[in-house]
Amino acid sequence: MGSNLGGGFEALISKLVTLKGLIHGELILPGEAGYDEGRWVWNGMIDRHPAAILYCVDEHDVVAAVRFARENGLTIAIRGGGHNVAGFGTCDGGLVVDLSRMKKIEVDPEAMVARVQPGLTWAEFDKATQKHGLATTGGLVSTTGISGLTLGGGVGWLVRKYGMTIDNLIGAEVVTASGEKIRASETENQDLFWALRGGGGNFGVVTLFEFRLHRVGPQVFGGPLFYPIGRASEVLRTYIRWASSLPDELTSLVVFLTAPPAPFIPAELQGTKMIAIATCYTGSLRDGENLIEPLRGLKPAVDLAGPTPYVGLQSMFDATAPRGINAYWRSLYLKQLDEPAVARLVDCASNFKSPFSQIHIHQLGGAVSRVSSKDTAFPHRESQYLMNIVGLWMEPSQAEGVIQWVKTTWTSLAPHSTGGEYANFMGEPIERVKAIYGDNYQRLVEIKRKYDPHNLFHINQNIKPV
Ligand SMILES: Cc1cc2nc3c(=O)[nH]c(=O)nc-3n(C[C@H](O)[C@H](O)[C@H](O)COP(=O)(O)OP(=O)(O)OC[C@H]3O[C@@H](n4cnc5c(N)ncnc54)[C@H](O)[C@@H]3O)c2cc1C
Repeated sequence: MGSNLGGGFEALISKLVTLKGLIHGELILPGEAGYDEGRWVWNGMIDRHPAAILYCVDEHDVVAAVRFARENGLTIAIRGGGHNVAGFGTCDGGLVVDLSRMKKIEVDPEAMVARVQPGLTWAEFDKATQKHGLATTGGLVSTTGISGLTLGGGVGWLVRKYGMTIDNLIGAEVVTASGEKIRASETENQDLFWALRGGGGNFGVVTLFEFRLHRVGPQVFGGPLFYPIGRASEVLRTYIRWASSLPDELTSLVVFLTAPPAPFIPAELQGTKMIAIATCYTGSLRDGENLIEPLRGLKPAVDLAGPTPYVGLQSMFDATAPRGINAYWRSLYLKQLDEPAVARLVDCASNFKSPFSQIHIHQLGGAVSRVSSKDTAFPHRESQYLMNIVGLWMEPSQAEGVIQWVKTTWTSLAPHSTGGEYANFMGEPIERVKAIYGDNYQRLVEIKRKYDPHNLFHINQNIKPV
């Protein structure tokens, strides 16, 4: 299945015009108003030209899109929040199935369950669930879509207490490659339900997610503490000891960054390289304060930790990742954060090629490790740290330098990694998808063969049905 911009393009357009009359949403063709806006995704580096963009408003539209693509041999790109860094939410010459107008959410506060359409962002999800004092594990930037993040795994501030986002998925409705709508849960199509939890968009279009919710907030204790990068080794030595004995209620994140020109950073530190340790504690505010005492004992240059609304913490990093910024990311799971790994990290972070680039180290463990690597399609359950090498830049001329820096950093840290990679933090499709799916790969191939034997859904970290 490939680009359809060849000789049959006019015939295809005339069929797409017919499709317009069959749907409830909006279908936009090249040259029409909204086409240029609709072909872009969050990552400004992704510049693709689909044959059409279909803004679905209901399942009927999703079924129509899938059937149309299958019958016409058309590439299909599924788009939830459009944040996939590799640009899987758009394509050249195919049909973009945009779900961003499917935004219904029903929260059942008694059952502590949310039934959610795929077009929601985490900001919208958190707003609706926090009205009831509830939440589930979501991403760290609130503009990210719930869909792609969930299907790839999902790590965020609640990950050590409540597990990954997939660990809170209790059911889904899916339009498969045959255009049929089916349910997946622990009791219905269990194989598909297993595959959806980490297997990405390989198996169909999810039109409804059902999540388990937990009591969170509205206030939590959290926020970042910043130290000059020259103190990184000393800070990380304390951090490693501290992090190894934390309760699950506390999740931490290490960030190497260039201090922004923000009012909360003293003028003399703006533009300098720093290391920050950010936390989220969901227990009592007083315990949260006590728990971060060892980090405060290191005398941070900037201390922004304190009681904060959970939704505030969820959007704290939004300004660092505006739509349209250029991005290239790569990830690895660290075996351990020991002295040699720290030395390499500090070296790589000292060589950022743009002021927006960062290195993140997400602390895992806790509830993540209590699920077996065979229980869901996501296999990396034993790793304590997930590293994301976040290449971000504004100036097109910086692209080559930043991408090379991401690759060099990845190679430098690879000897300290398990060999695995996180699907959600990949800047491009990779050939070696076994790094993502691990020992679950073969079972995923079998499930792919059952639900998508002709690989209709291949704009993703692709599991080939052969
Ligand atoms: C600024 C930023 C911050 C991030 N922070 C985090 C974080 O804290 N934690 C984390 O785990 N990840 C994080 N991510 C990574 C994020 O999880 C992935 O980029 C994810 O793909 C985004 O989902 P989306 O719906 O916005 O993306 P999209 O680009 O819309 O979708 C990505 C892919 O997911 C699949 N997909 C999407 N919706 C559906 C659906 N309904 N049915 C079937 N397949 C579908 C498709 O293959 C699609 O191409 C972040 C990304 C960005 C850009």
